[in-house]
Amino acid sequence: MFSRWISASNDITRQFLSFGVRPDFISMAGGLPAAEFYPAAAISHATGRALARWGAKALDYGPVEGFLPLRQHIAERMARQTGCAVTTDNVLLTAGAMQGLDLLGKILIDPGDRVVAQYPTYVGALDAWRPRLPSYEALDWVQNGVTTVDVLRAAKFVYTVPNYSNPTGALVSTAARQALLEKVLEAGTWLIEDDPYLPLQLDGAVGPSILELHGRMEKAEPYQGPVIYLGTLSKSIVPGLRVGWAVAAPELIQALVLAKQSADLASSMLTQAVALELLEAGLEQTHVPHVVHQYRERRDALCTTAATELGQWFEWETPPGGMFVWMRSRNPAIDTDALYEHAVAEKVAFVPGSVFDPHGRLRSAIRVNFTRNAPAVLEEGIARLALATRRYLDSNSLRTKPRVQRTGGSLP
Ligand code: PMP
Repeated sequence: MFSRWISASNDITRQFLSFGVRPDFISMAGGLPAAEFYPAAAISHATGRALARWGAKALDYGPVEGFLPLRQHIAERMARQTGCAVTTDNVLLTAGAMQGLDLLGKILIDPGDRVVAQYPTYVGALDAWRPRLPSYEALDWVQNGVTTVDVLRAAKFVYTVPNYSNPTGALVSTAARQALLEKVLEAGTWLIEDDPYLPLQLDGAVGPSILELHGRMEKAEPYQGPVIYLGTLSKSIVPGLRVGWAVAAPELIQALVLAKQSADLASSMLTQAVALELLEAGLEQTHVPHVVHQYRERRDALCTTAATELGQWFEWETPPGGMFVWMRSRNPAIDTDALYEHAVAEKVAFVPGSVFDPHGRLRSAIRVNFTRNAPAVLEEGIARLALATRRYLDSNSLRTKPRVQRTGGSLP
C-alpha cells in the first residue's frame, strides 16, 4: 500500500542513522560532517543577535520564498560566484538542498518521464523521485559521445553532481561540463546541478559551475536559463540549520514556491535569520578551511589503511574533495549487498552500491565516508571491514558461483 514510498534504499538510510548512535559501532555510512567541529559558540551568538535584530519576526511564519534578506544575500553571492544575473526572483530558500530535489521531482516529473542522471546516482534524489515513477537513463559524460542531444531531448531533465559526486567523489572536468551544457541548450531540457560539496575542496580547486559556464553565454536579467542550481549550508556550516537554496529561471521558482507551500508552508524563520548572521559575519571563511584541513587528514588516513587492509579486494581513486571514497570490488565473487550484512555483524557500516542504482543492481562497489570519524576510528573501521570481507569470502567460497560484474556507466 505504501510501496511507492518505501524501498530497500530508504530503509537502509534509516538503518544508518540508528548505527550512528550506537557507541560500539563504527559507521562510515552516512554522509555526515564531523560533529565535533560544529561551530556551536558562533551559532549561539548568532541566534542571540538574530533575535535582537528581528524580534518576533524571527519566530513567525515567513514568506514561502524564504526570509528576504537571506534571499538577497544568496542572490548576490550566486551572482558574484557565477557571473550570472541572479536576482531574488531567481532564488528559493529551501530546507536543505534535499528539499530542492524533492520539490523539483514534484513539479517536473510525471509518471514515466525520463530522467538522465549521473550514474551512480545520489540515493536521496532516487528516494525523493521514486513516487513520481520516472524512468532513468545514465548520463555518460558527453566527451564519450554516448549521451546524445536526442537522448537529452527525450528527457524531462538532467541531474548531475559535478563537484565530488555522491557516491563516487568524482570531479567532472570543465570541458565535460561545457559539452553537456551545450547539448542541454540544444535539446531544450532542464539541468539540475546539485552542488553540496563545493566547499569541501581537499586537493586543488574546482572549475566553474555549469551555471557559471552558462552565465558566460547568457546575460539576461533575471537569469532565464535551463540550469537549476542547488546549494546548501549543510557542509560549509552545519546540516542542522536546514538552509539550502535553488537558483533557477523565475517561472520555475514560482512553481517551486507553490510546491513548497503545500509541503511545509515555509522554512523556519529562526534558522534563516541565524544563517544570515553567520554569513554576514563571514563564518564560512574561517570554518571551511579548518574542516577541510581535518577532512584531508581523515581521507588520507582512510586511504592509507585501506591500501594495506582492503587493496587485495577493492580499488579506488583518492577523491580530490567531498566526503566519500568509492571502492569498486576487484573480485567478482564479492556481492556488496551480502558483504554489508557481514560488515554489520562486525559492527561497521558502509553504503552498498545498489542503493545508488535506480534498479538496485550495482552490487560491486561500496561508498565509504571519511568525514564523520577521527582518523584512528576510521583505521579501526577499515580493519573491521577487512575482517568482514575475509569472513564473507570464507563463508561463501564453496557456495557462490562468480557473478558477471557490472561495470557501471550505463543503466539497463
Ligand atoms: N545532494 C547531494 C548530492 C547530497 O549528498 C546531499 C546530502 N548529503 C544533499 C543533496 C542534501 O543536502 P542538504 O539537504 O543537507 O542540504
